[in-house]
Amino acid sequence: MILEFAGIKVDNITLHESINKVDQLIASGKPNLIVTPNPEMIVNSQSDPLMKEIINNASLRLPDGISMVVVSKIMGKPLKERVAGIDFMLKAVEHSVQKRYRIFLLGGKPGIAKKAAQILRNRHPSMQLVGIHDGYFEHDGTIINLVKKAKPDILFAGLGAGRQEKWLYKYLNTLGVPVCVGVGGSMDVISGYKKRAPKIIQKLYIEWLYRLITEPWRWKRQLALPKFLWLVFSSFRQ
Ligand code: UDP
Repeated sequence: MILEFAGIKVDNITLHESINKVDQLIASGKPNLIVTPNPEMIVNSQSDPLMKEIINNASLRLPDGISMVVVSKIMGKPLKERVAGIDFMLKAVEHSVQKRYRIFLLGGKPGIAKKAAQILRNRHPSMQLVGIHDGYFEHDGTIINLVKKAKPDILFAGLGAGRQEKWLYKYLNTLGVPVCVGVGGSMDVISGYKKRAPKIIQKLYIEWLYRLITEPWRWKRQLALPKFLWLVFSSFRQ
């Protein structure tokens, strides 16, 4: 089932179901885009028609925000759960080991994807990692050639929210990768470069507060949360 938040589509899907969907997308043989809309992306999409088009046409839109789960309950169409990009990435990597899917890691500052790869390889020695590159490249063509040569089944791209989706959307057919997914700063966390909020904080629904305290320079980005609530509730009342 698909829900809508201020005109932005989001799939009502669990983490487990999203992994089954990966199998279907890979079996389709066609290139697909998976996005992880959160309140910030939903707010930004209101004034960015391309972003709206990208999310609404993606093959899968994972609900990456606990506030979206809460709001959906209040509105009487509850989302089953939050599916955070990083949780999806870790599960998809684990699943790829069993299925022998080929993985490409793209994004983050130089060295971050490499470190994340090392950590994942320690966890899953038989992982089929076919390519790694940082997210600060000048020529798209170089990266496109690298990915095409490597022929991954899944391309995890952490190039920053907005930029990664636009990049993947633009080159989706050229890349020809069955599953392309924007994962934001997930590789920063996997590599240990950044810390995710402890589980208890995630469970208390205050991961946003943790990020505000640990990364105060993000405060402007976090204004998206009240904007999101206003946007959704005001459109709901009409
Ligand atoms: N990033 C990148 N290339 C850029 C800009 C950003 O690879 O030109 C990476 C950055 O190093 C970080 C990630 O994008 O790893 C941040 O993405 P976002 O802000 O969406 O992540 P969040 O922290 O919100 O998950």
